[in-house]
Amino acid sequence: MRSEKWLSDQLELVLSKYFSNIKISNPIEIKWGREAKYRFGSIRLIKPKGIKLLSRRSYPQKSVITITSMFRSEGISEKVVNYTICHELCHYAHGFSSANKKLFRHPHHGGVVNRELTERGAGDLIGEFKKWLKTYRSEILKNSRR
Ligand SMILES: [Zn+2]
Repeated sequence: MRSEKWLSDQLELVLSKYFSNIKISNPIEIKWGREAKYRFGSIRLIKPKGIKLLSRRSYPQKSVITITSMFRSEGISEKVVNYTICHELCHYAHGFSSANKKLFRHPHHGGVVNRELTERGAGDLIGEFKKWLKTYRSEILKNSRR
């Protein structure tokens, strides 16, 4: 099973490989979360609560990426996990669930995520993810018909 450390290492890896030029307006954390059939990742902006305005600077808000625990299995290709992390990092870069400037009306506006990933040289991750998703979906359908 992949550890929390493994997951943070993947985040560092894809950040430096594909997103080295984005503005890190607030810190990013990543963790494994609960399993959901069709939701593999999410990103949330956590704002400090109950902290006086003056001390906010020392308690900045942070973005937390959650990845489905289904991906802890070594049987899932690393590229599928990295695609999911990169997908959430696109939202971060576009100002969704981050302190960055919001660039679009909706997080998935007109396919912006995959366009961004292709421009950043992560096109192979998209292909790998789509291939995996197709197999995964057909497995679920097969199992539900039993
Ligand atoms: Zn998304």
